[in-house]
Amino acid sequence: MNIHEYQAKEVLRGFGVSVATGKVAYTPDEAVAAAESLNSAVYVVKAQIHAGGRGKGGGVKVVKTLDEVRAEAERMLGMTLVTHQTGPEGKLVRKVYVEEGTAIARELYLSLLIDRGNSRVSFIASTEGGMDIEEVAASTPEKILTIDVDPAAGISGHHGRRIAYALGLKGDEVKQGVKLITAIYNAFVETDASLMEINPLVVTEDGQLTCLDAKVNFDGNSLFRHPDLVDLRDPDEEDPAEREAAKHDLAYIKLDGQIGCMVNGAGLAMATMDIIKLYGGEPANFLDVGGGATKEKVTEAFKIILSDPNVEAILVNIFGGIMRCDVIAEGVVAAAREVSLSVPLVVRLAGTNVDLGKKILEESGLPIVSADDLNDAAEKVVKAQKEA
Ligand code: ADP
Ligand code: MG
Repeated sequence: MNIHEYQAKEVLRGFGVSVATGKVAYTPDEAVAAAESLNSAVYVVKAQIHAGGRGKGGGVKVVKTLDEVRAEAERMLGMTLVTHQTGPEGKLVRKVYVEEGTAIARELYLSLLIDRGNSRVSFIASTEGGMDIEEVAASTPEKILTIDVDPAAGISGHHGRRIAYALGLKGDEVKQGVKLITAIYNAFVETDASLMEINPLVVTEDGQLTCLDAKVNFDGNSLFRHPDLVDLRDPDEEDPAEREAAKHDLAYIKLDGQIGCMVNGAGLAMATMDIIKLYGGEPANFLDVGGGATKEKVTEAFKIILSDPNVEAILVNIFGGIMRCDVIAEGVVAAAREVSLSVPLVVRLAGTNVDLGKKILEESGLPIVSADDLNDAAEKVVKAQKEA
């Protein structure tokens, strides 16, 4: 689960991480009031969307007067902000964060993530923070250093110092750095985060270390342990189809292709998407209907797949292990009738009672194409989509 910058800073502040002071605002009046309350000579107005690259896209402005705060808030609120992370369709700005302007001496990069390869928490540090970190990663990757922490042993002073040195900190900055790094690590572990990215982490002109930007993702599987964090969810930032799917306990991720996929099991769903691509098609979504693919779930899944106007054909690929294929076939037939299916449907069933399942599909009178195996299914659905 992704959250906004202002929320991420609030979470980090709670763990004793130094972050710039600011307030969120939903209207230009609130933005001016927020700026007034900050008691600062310089203000920064920042669009709050679940995407980075806002600075380059015109979503971060440093200003000096309350009139300029108002003007920037008026400009940003309601705008569709396009950044290299939003895709060409951009994201609607519904709130801004008004923050104290900081006199920056150096912009650094610091992030933490889970390295699944070595089962560690990895810090990634660079002296080259700011808006061009992607460029640094591409052209001078040696300027980006990775330092792992074994979560069983936890973080200790030597990690903090190594990271501080990697960030090019000196003297008192090292001391501040170790404290900040330890606090971020604790925040990461205690909130079950999957990513915390501070870009930029800055050294101010008077030698203070502070976070000017913060991107935080939490592991969705651990949210049951953090009801307070669940409250930070912003439904406006989520894809409506993904939100609807979550309600029905379906794991759905929208993609850009034309072939809708309905599969049981995440691994089989991944394999299905791969094989569609192998046959020259593009999957429109990832969808795992789970072990108990009931008629209700299959119907909801069809509705969600069909809510995507790009979908030109659907592939149902279900392995009848816990569920029998005949039960699944009945579900598919009933669901296809209920949603009056308008695109070609290819169904591949395997497992218990597969012959009975196929017979039900055949006898339904619906234009369902039955497939024998994964290759056959992918070939048929790609062909059906190209002809549709
Ligand atoms: P994004 O990463 O989405 O572009 P940031 O919050 O990193 O947004 O802001 C972009 C740039 O704006 C930063 O790299 C920094 O140079 C500047 N900036 C952001 N917040 C402040 C602030 N409070 N004071 C001064 N400059 C800031
Ligand atoms: Mg940033």
